[in-house]
Formats: sequence, structure tokens, C-alpha cells
Amino acid sequence: MIKVVHTIKEVREQVKAWRTEGLSVGLVPTMGFLHEGHKSLIDSSVKDNDRTVVSVFVNPMQFGPSEDLANYPRDLDADAELCASAGADLIFNPEPEEMYADGFCSFVDMIGPTAELCGKSRPIHFRGVCTVVSKLFNIVQPDRAYFGQKDAQQLAVIKRMVTDLNIPVEIIGCPIIREADGLAKSSRNTYLNEEERKAALILSKTIFMGQELVKNGLTDAAELISRMKENIETEPLAKIDYVDVVNFDDVSRKDTIGDNTLVAMAVYVGKARLLDNFIIEKK
Ligand code: AMP
Repeated sequence: MIKVVHTIKEVREQVKAWRTEGLSVGLVPTMGFLHEGHKSLIDSSVKDNDRTVVSVFVNPMQFGPSEDLANYPRDLDADAELCASAGADLIFNPEPEEMYADGFCSFVDMIGPTAELCGKSRPIHFRGVCTVVSKLFNIVQPDRAYFGQKDAQQLAVIKRMVTDLNIPVEIIGCPIIREADGLAKSSRNTYLNEEERKAALILSKTIFMGQELVKNGLTDAAELISRMKENIETEPLAKIDYVDVVNFDDVSRKDTIGDNTLVAMAVYVGKARLLDNFIIEKK
């Protein structure tokens, strides 16, 4: 059985005890309802660090008023099982009141890398993410923290935040884990009914198509975007939020596809807003 704690004080005591023994600590921040994608982050942390903390917190601050906070799936028992089997050492599962006490009024905000992609349709999202992740970094004080490339803009934003604010943690990005048929694993996939689950394949199919076009020499971002959008539009249940091409470091728009380019999409299928992307590291 893995230890599950709900208070900041308990996390601090545990991490302090590990530090006294000279042990290194990895942190995997999550919103729970864990799957193989989360497990790959935990696996990396367990490999790199003596101890691994997994935070399970559905952070109200990163949800807009009309988003899915109330319906977000939760299953702490299953999460604890997955964490234990992956070799994690501690789950931090605070209530919102523990993280945001009465009178809470300090935020970490970012301009620039939060302006494009998800920042456009979710204007308060990254303020919530930056605030909660910096709190988690201050609470756990890990040596390393693990984030998935599935949320590529989030990964870029967190890297920028620790650089700008001199937070002494190494950020490790981990590749996208997919279902056997290609769909990127996500806790939000549970929102999909059978028909929508089939329709959702249009995301990964379009990602693979885009990768192929780039591999075959396409460098014009506008053309890639329009070819990918056309492909998504062949699926009647899919509604595009965005398909865009940006620089992976600063998430600024790019006209030409080259090194370090992020090609990202958000697409609604039914109630679920799904993300997928690919990165061209070296052309
Ligand atoms: P979430 O619980 O959705 O907030 O995700 C927690 C962390 O797991 C984030 O860093 C995500 O990018 C990462 N993650 C979620 N799904 C995947 C996936 N399919 N592959 C890799 N990482 C993932």
C-alpha cells in the first residue's frame, strides 16, 4: 500500500525525512484518474530518483467557469494502485481548501508562451497551472519534475516559469503515450461514447498525416495547417478549436516548419476537448 497524505505538513515532513537520508526526490503532478500516460512519467521519475511523489489534485483554478471541473473523473483507489505498482512512494492528494486557504490572493501569471494555442480558448488556464505547479514545487521541493509532451504548451510554459523564477528543479518532458489505435491517452477520453471514441481517431490520424507531410518536405506552416484542418473536417463529430504551428520554446507563431517546431491541435469530440501534437526536433 502506498502512503496517501492530504496535508502540506505531512508532505513536508516526509520529504524532510528523505532529505535527511540524502535521498533525491522526483515529482509527478497530475489531476488523477491515472492511465499509462501518467505511468510513463512515474516510471521515469522512479528510474531517475530515490523517491517519487505523485500529486493528485483537480485544480479548480485552471478550469474556466463553463468547463468540466465538476465532471472531471476521479478514482483515488485506482490511482493509488497504479502509483504503488509503478514504484512511487507517496501520493499528495489535497482538498482545494488545503491549497487555497481563506484569503488566498497570490498568483503566478505568464505572458508570451500562454498567448497562443490553448491560451486563446482557455484564458485563465495557464495562470491556474503556473500557480498550482509553483505551489507544488515549493511544497515538495523536488530535484526533478515530470511533464508529458501531450500537453506540450504546458511543458513549454513550466520550463519558462522555472527559468524566469529561478526555481531549482529540473523539468523532464516525456513522450506522448497512445492507445493501440493511436488515440493519445487522456483522462478525458472517458467522456467519449462508443461513436465518439471512433471519431476521436481523427486527431491521431491527422497528426500522423501531418508528420508524413513534413517528412516528405512540406515546410509551409499555413499549408500544413490547412491540410490538417481539411482532414479533421472529414469527421462530422469533430469540431476544431485550433490547429497551429509554433516554436516549441516560446510558443510563438511560425510560418516555416523547421527545428524545434510544435504542431498542435485541440479538437472537440462530443463534450470532450482533446489535444494532440507532434514536435519536429531536427529537420
Ligand atoms: P493530467 O492529469 O491530465 O493533468 O496530466 C498530468 C501529466 O500527465 C501532465 O504532465 C500530462 O502531460 C501527462 N500526460 C497525460 N496524458 C499523457 C499521455 N498520453 N502521454 C504522456 N503524458 C501524459
